[in-house]
Amino acid sequence: MSETIKTDVLIIGAGPCGLFAVFELGLLDMKAHLIDILDKAGGQCAELYPEKPIYDIPGIPMVTGQGLTEALMAQIKPFHPTFHLGEMVERVEKIGNPGFRVTTDAGNVFECKVVVIAAGGGSFQPKRPPVPGIEAYEGTSVHYAVRKMDVFRDKRLLIVGGGDSALDWTLNLVPIAKRVTLMHRRDQFRAAPDSVNKMKALVAEKKMDLALGQVTGLEGADGRLTAALAKPDKGDPYRLECDAMLPFFGLTMKLGPVARRVTLLHRRDEFRAAPHSVEQMRALVAAGKMGLKIGQVTELKGEGGKLSGATIKGSDNLIENIACDTILPFFGLTMKLGPVADWGIELEHNLVPVETSAFETSVPGIFAIGDINTYPGKLKLILSGFHEAALMAQKAYHYVFPEKRLVFQYTTSSTSLQKKLGVA
Ligand code: FAD
Repeated sequence: MSETIKTDVLIIGAGPCGLFAVFELGLLDMKAHLIDILDKAGGQCAELYPEKPIYDIPGIPMVTGQGLTEALMAQIKPFHPTFHLGEMVERVEKIGNPGFRVTTDAGNVFECKVVVIAAGGGSFQPKRPPVPGIEAYEGTSVHYAVRKMDVFRDKRLLIVGGGDSALDWTLNLVPIAKRVTLMHRRDQFRAAPDSVNKMKALVAEKKMDLALGQVTGLEGADGRLTAALAKPDKGDPYRLECDAMLPFFGLTMKLGPVARRVTLLHRRDEFRAAPHSVEQMRALVAAGKMGLKIGQVTELKGEGGKLSGATIKGSDNLIENIACDTILPFFGLTMKLGPVADWGIELEHNLVPVETSAFETSVPGIFAIGDINTYPGKLKLILSGFHEAALMAQKAYHYVFPEKRLVFQYTTSSTSLQKKLGVA
């Protein structure tokens, strides 16, 4: 087991609220480490809607999810936070008064005075590819994230996907694995062009393989993979020997202007979405730029896995066939609470109840900010999480520095705060 890492504050979750907490803690001289299951900072903003605009961050008329993440990373730079990405916090134990030991699934152990849970909706769940029997290999040979690169040392590794995660891990694991094969259903990638070029260069140098197709089956025994069966769009099915597989079927989806024609289908003519978005959608329908159907899909039509249309039963029971190549069903996100449920903290409908003077949980020294917490009047907005982070830091200070008095200061007028920010 690795050496225990000591820090003032441990932040679980590097979403926007976890990131801003670093800033508020830093102004008060508290050092923070952050842990996140994802391999990047930014939480929902970076993982679910990096290119979508946000319009309600105070003082910033418009910023994308990725833009906000980058701005927060720049803002907290003076405080040198340490990130532990691709790790999931599994255990939080009380070891002092206050004092906590936090353990991750990568075996890292932290000791800290204060824990800040900024875990959002809980842990993102990877999409499981539709391969029969894949569950039997999960955790042994099939992994949905890279927690420790060494797990893949000298393995014949099959990476499946065409996005940034698939390409980034391909490039990182080629020097470690015995042989890496990247499989994607077509020879076009959604990943950064630079990564795609690097991957193609490795293929040209025969340092890795690129295979076109989709995994249709797995071979092996006792959870140990020996081969994957694959089918290309054109040509014969084939068999690929491998000991480990990393499927990356990311969560981001692009819509709107990139599609030839979009039809929105909903079972009734009322929407739970933001009124502004509903208005925009109705304006597009009125302008003939997209379709709106009220009903439910009863049947899909197509051949060889290629969709050609869908049968819709309308609210008036009339049946209609529409032509389509792709269906994007949005029936809510699956984010499981995950291990938070086992940390001995009171929960309410899978959220962490907090008091509202410092957003502290039922355990003194453990705070919860952002989407994960609940209190009367809670709004799941980024700006609420920012406010919660500021008040949390004020109380956390007394746990970290029990002997010191806290003096309230403005960043505009305090030379001491400006020195910490590196601007004075
Ligand atoms: P998150 O962003 O959910 O981040 C939590 C992080 O914690 C995740 O990265 C997760 O991997 C990590 N985590 C969870 N459990 C663990 C664990 N056990 N160990 C390690 N890490 C863990 N809000 C607005 O204010 N304005 C908007 O316009 C807006 N638009 C949105 C559009 C969409 C499509 C969506 C989905 C959300 C939108 N939101 C918007 C909501 C906003 O994104 C959330 O309120 C915000 O992301 C919450 O931030 P957070 O830091 O609390 O949690």
